[in-house]
Amino acid sequence: MHKDVKEVLYTQEEIIEKCKELGQLISDDYAGKEVILVGLLKGSVPFLAELSKYIELDVTFDYMDVSSYEGVESRTITIKKDLDQDVKGKDILLVEDILDTGKTLTTVKAMLVERGASSVEIVTMLDKKEGRTYPIEAKYVGFEIPNAFVIGYGLDFNEKYRQLPYVGILKEECYM
Ligand code: 5GP
Ligand code: MG
Ligand code: MG
Repeated sequence: MHKDVKEVLYTQEEIIEKCKELGQLISDDYAGKEVILVGLLKGSVPFLAELSKYIELDVTFDYMDVSSYEGVESRTITIKKDLDQDVKGKDILLVEDILDTGKTLTTVKAMLVERGASSVEIVTMLDKKEGRTYPIEAKYVGFEIPNAFVIGYGLDFNEKYRQLPYVGILKEECYM
């Protein structure tokens, strides 16, 4: 285990098992349809890669990179990288590492609906329900977690720890 990790919450094996379950649900729910998996950079990449292996549908991958500003109760987010394709009439599955306040996904979802996507749903590896300030829920949730700062499996602190093959709680002394 990495020296900065206080506790491992989910091991690689548990995450893979969860991806299999979610992949099966998604395959059943979208049977006969084509889905665009939209990963939010950078944190969703390991989860998206694992989950997609168990989706038995025709899928394409696309990515968005957005940054939202803290502070003022504004929904403004900056698009640093937009999708490569037109989503009009398409079924979109937004893939996130973690859903916290819901600000990012609320804004991104509204943007894709505005562009004419025929459906926009969310799949998130982790859900911090207590953190929610926007009324948004993911259709597919890997694990519900308490309000702690987690790293690994894509999740970073100052861009570090994304490569850890598990989700763990970062030691307080690392960000104090
Ligand atoms: P939201 O817009 O839902 O508040 O923000 C979700 C984003 O906040 C995530 O994609 C992630 O980048 C960041 N985030 C929220 N909670 C955590 C956490 O516990 N650990 C890490 N590494 N990032 C988090
Ligand atoms: Mg993210
Ligand atoms: Mg981050």
